[in-house]
This record gives sequence, structure tokens and C-alpha cells, in this order.
Amino acid sequence: MRLYIFIYLNIFVAEILEQMRSIEIKQEFCPKNHRCPVIPACPFGAISQDGPSSEPSIDDSKCQQCGLCCNFCRVFSCKSPQ
Ligand code: SF4
Repeated sequence: MRLYIFIYLNIFVAEILEQMRSIEIKQEFCPKNHRCPVIPACPFGAISQDGPSSEPSIDDSKCQQCGLCCNFCRVFSCKSPQ
């Protein structure tokens, strides 16, 4: 019985941590000299860019924090709380 409770709690905590992941844009890594290729990769249309000479930005109201963008470019950084 204790094992089941332990497993259940671990799954519960892992889900909470996953939901708390935050996406950050690290401007220092963006050369700001091209259209961001990650924009079409976001399945929720949460990434936009003013122009090729600006860094991308994330609309928090659209972002589902799936982490996909972090696999495409190091400008996008996915952070999980410690
Ligand atoms: S985490 Fe997912 S939803 Fe949010 S900006 Fe990145 S790809 Fe889009």
C-alpha cells in the first residue's frame, strides 16, 4: 500500500512540476538578423517577431509550455523549478 502511495505522489509531483515549467527567451543568443525559424514550429502560434532585426517574443496567453521551441533553438530556454 505504501508503495502505491509513494508512486502516486511521485506522479502527482512530476505533473505539478511539468505544469510550472516556464519558457524564457535568452536575447543574448539571438543574432536578430533573420526571421525566427521557430515561429512556424509553435503549434499554438504563441511566438511572434516584430521584424527580422528583432528577437522573438512569446505570448503567454497562447503558450501551453509544451517545450517544443526549446528543442529548435537555444534562444528558447525551458526552465523547470528545482
Ligand atoms: S513552449 Fe510550446 S506553446 Fe510555448 S512558445 Fe514554445 S512551442 Fe509555443
